[in-house]
Formats: sequence, C-alpha cells, structure tokens
Amino acid sequence: MFISIVIPCYNEEEVINETHRRLVAVLEQLTPQFELIYIDDGSQDKTAELLKQLQHNDQRVKAVLLSRNFGHQMAVTAGLDHVCGEAVVLIDADLQDPPEVIEEMLNQWYQGYDVAYGVRIDRQGETPFKLWSAKLFYRLMNCLSDVPIPLDTGDFRLMDRRVVEALKIMPERDRFLRGMVSWVGFSQIAVPYQRSRRLAGVSKYPLFKMIRFAFDGILSFSLVPLRLAIWAGLLAFALSIIGIIYALFVRLFTLSWVPGWTLSFIAILFIGGIQLVFLGVIGEYIGRIYREDKRRPLYLVREKLGFGEEYYNRRPNRPKQTITIGENSSEKFR
Ligand code: UDP
Ligand code: MG
Repeated sequence: MFISIVIPCYNEEEVINETHRRLVAVLEQLTPQFELIYIDDGSQDKTAELLKQLQHNDQRVKAVLLSRNFGHQMAVTAGLDHVCGEAVVLIDADLQDPPEVIEEMLNQWYQGYDVAYGVRIDRQGETPFKLWSAKLFYRLMNCLSDVPIPLDTGDFRLMDRRVVEALKIMPERDRFLRGMVSWVGFSQIAVPYQRSRRLAGVSKYPLFKMIRFAFDGILSFSLVPLRLAIWAGLLAFALSIIGIIYALFVRLFTLSWVPGWTLSFIAILFIGGIQLVFLGVIGEYIGRIYREDKRRPLYLVREKLGFGEEYYNRRPNRPKQTITIGENSSEKFR
C-alpha cells in the first residue's frame, strides 16, 4: 500500500529534521512504499532550505514551497493536491501528533474505514487558556454546525484517497478541513491519542489567529448566526409590544406620561444594538461571498521539488539560477 504523509511547516527549522527522522522510523515499519510531502508555508527561517536538503537526501521526500504564508489550512490543501498515495495522513510538523499513532490509523483503514481521525484525550504543554478555549470552541462549533464535527479533533488524521479526491473538488476558500471531512461522509472512526507538547519553537497559532480560525469554522459551516437575527428580531418585537401597551396605558390612564423617556431610550439602544450586531454578521457573510466569488487560487506555488518535474516561476529577466532536483539528478535546470 502506498501511503502519503502531508506535513505543513511554517518556521519549523528547529524541529523539521527530528520530525522527518521520527516519521521515517515509524513508516519504514509499516509500509515499504510511502511519500512525505512537506509544504513550506512561506517560512522566514531556514525551513525551506532544510526541506531542500531532506529532499536531496531522500527520494521519498517531496517538497512544495508556497509563494508566501497562506495559513495552515491552505498549506494542508496544497499538500492534498499533490498526493499520490492510496491513504493520506495529515500530521503537524512539530511532533505534537505522535507519528506512532499512524499505525493504529492504518489498522482502522485496513478494517475498511475511510477516515481515521485523531481525538485528543490529553493535551500536554498547553496553557489552561488554550485548553479551555479549544474545549469551548469545539462544543460551540458542534451546536452551530449543520454537520456534526467530532469533539477535540484536530487535523491529524488518515484519509482514504477517495475522501481526498472529494476534498479536492470542494473549491471553497474558507477551508475548515475537519468540518469538510465530516461533511464528505464515508465511514469514519476516532483514534484516541495523547497530544504531546511541541518539540521546539512556539505555536504558530497566536490568539488572534485562533479566533479567526474559530470564526472561519463557524461561519463556513453554519447559518445559525443569521438565524439568530430572526430570533433576536422576534424577541425585540415581543418586547416592543409590551412597551407599546405600557406606553399607551401610561398615556391614556395616567397623568405622568412624560417620564416614559427611560423606556424609549432603552428601546432605541436595544434595537440599535441588535441591528448593528446583525448588520455585522450579514456583512461577514457577504464579505465571504465576495471573496469566494473572486475565484482566486487558494495558494500559489513558488517551487516544487521531487515531483520529477522542474517547476518554478519563469521571468524573462530573472537572474540565472540553478536548481538541482532529485538525489542523483545530474541535469541542472535554469
Ligand atoms: N502552520 C502552517 N502555516 C501557518 C501556521 C502553522 O503551515 O500559518 C503549521 C505549523 O508549522 C504546524 C501546524 O501548522 O506544523 C500546526 O501549527 P502549530 O503547531 O503552530 O499550532 P498549534 O499546535 O499550536 O495549534
Ligand atoms: Mg502544534
């Protein structure tokens, strides 16, 4: 069986060699045929050079270097577009997902499952805030999403080739892969594992990126925020009827109707607030429609290595540059 491993890397110079060593050690036990597809997501450090070296020394390595940082989900997408294997594993570059778990995933695949997704039963080395916010996010996501998305599941998973082919024809730009894989269906099974701490370096998901990711997940998998507008509108309408009755009562049957100011003030603030919030929500969806509608490519490739073809951006006045591909490739390309 031919297995492809997709590893997105962004500024992972400290861990990449060790990750490669661990992955190869595990995979050699499992299958004679595999490929490792590393995606350099526009790293500013030496990641790209290290990947070139790895590729040079090992024929099983392929590298896709993106033209800039497109984000984790796009990097994974780029990887999926280049796989050849019958089964495809997504794994982080920082060894937080132990490569040893791949064996269990493969077993599930041999049993006939199309997707074996890792479920984190324990997460080491994360701040209490990240643990708590992740927990909250997965639960919120599940309440809102139209398709059930398994709790505490990251992108560490094994997928059958047909699942990958299904993902490849999903053109959306808001790529929340774990949700997309749930949407695809087929038979899926959880593989529990302990998430370790990062081998080295820092998380590339700072708070703001995490929040954006959470928004992407919710907005691309749920119309509930729009439906909330209807419920909030109905609630405001019900309250306003009470307000109207009260106002009429005060006006008709009492002499103190000027002080009704408080009520109208509150009503204006309340309605104004609700309207602004949902204008924002609608705007967010419209912005996404606009972005999807531009139909830009999801990512751009600067260089591909190990695919048996030379690939890089040719410009007329480009300074002469030679790139060698493959282990014993003698031909130089300009
Ligand atoms: N990553 C990426 N592009 C980005 C951010 C992250 O390719 O813009 C990669 C990163 O190199 C790692 C994986 O995505 O292999 C998960 O990122 P990280 O470990 O920083 O996230 P965390 O595990 O802290 O959620
Ligand atoms: Mg990590």
